[in-house]
Amino acid sequence: MFHRFYPAEMAESSYSIDYEELYRQGYRGLIYDIDNTLVEHGADANSEVIELFRRLNKIGFRICLLSNNQAPRVRRFYRGVNIPGVHLHYIFDAHKPSRKSYRKAMRIMRTNKRNTVFIGDQIFTDIYGANRAGIRSMLVKPINKNEEIQIVLKRRLERIIMHFYKKEKLERMKHGNIVLIGFDGCGKYEIGKLLAERCNMDFLDTNETLAEKLGKDPSEIMKEHGEDYFREAEYELVCHLGRKAKRMVISAGGGIPTSVINQKKLRQMGEVIYLKAKAETILPALRADSSRPFFYSNNREDEIMRLIGERNFAYQVTCHKVVNVDDHSVSENAAEIQRIMG
Ligand SMILES: [Mg+2]
Repeated sequence: MFHRFYPAEMAESSYSIDYEELYRQGYRGLIYDIDNTLVEHGADANSEVIELFRRLNKIGFRICLLSNNQAPRVRRFYRGVNIPGVHLHYIFDAHKPSRKSYRKAMRIMRTNKRNTVFIGDQIFTDIYGANRAGIRSMLVKPINKNEEIQIVLKRRLERIIMHFYKKEKLERMKHGNIVLIGFDGCGKYEIGKLLAERCNMDFLDTNETLAEKLGKDPSEIMKEHGEDYFREAEYELVCHLGRKAKRMVISAGGGIPTSVINQKKLRQMGEVIYLKAKAETILPALRADSSRPFFYSNNREDEIMRLIGERNFAYQVTCHKVVNVDDHSVSENAAEIQRIMG
């Protein structure tokens, strides 16, 4: 239930991140929180920040400061780093975790969700906002350990969340699977198969496995025995995979992440990637495939649209990372997953 607050990664400090590696992975934009991320709360820019930004510009990064603080504080900091050889942007009064300012930062830098990283020290504003905006989020340890009382209280809550985060991460690393989720028609099967081939991993599609096990297609199983029967079979398979699957690429049936218990099991199984697609991408793919389960064949577009909206929420809270698949080939999307997995 805390998933939405989990950072994609953690780093000791903004100054110890391997930025050359980030650039090599294709990242071009960096969004920074200021207070306790770059300098102590309220402090001016120092030579360490200037050196860092100069280096980042040289590597080829665009930089934007994103602070919930007001104009005077942010401008003062900006003036301190705005020297020849350093180029950056700033946004004050950002209302993090609102998505708006993250989007604005990307617009200013002319970067996008795929090639931007956010770096900050607070979970409920910085990280939560970046996650909501669909940007890779990095949590750094606060520079100053002695903080104001209202922040101290927040830090206690953060510690609880980080406890669960670390526990889940250990579990996930033990299994080492990549789990692909998303609406039917988003390309999970094709992308997963190619990804497995490239990573030299085994591939499993839950619908295929269930069809083999039960001797019928999912659509037939649902028609004959009802949806509950099928969901139960899916749940059993998920439990089985949770125990047995190691280093596999798993394409999970579109309905699996809709149950809370499955969400948890998928996340423990491995890195969960949501292949997010617009309805315009999904609908033609569904129409072209007559083997899809029940409702799709009836051509009820409004029904499918409603379902996409509903499931989008379940997918968002289940996944560790999102890959927007629209307008990209199967090969490009598989490469993107490899890239974000490092
Ligand atoms: Mg901060």
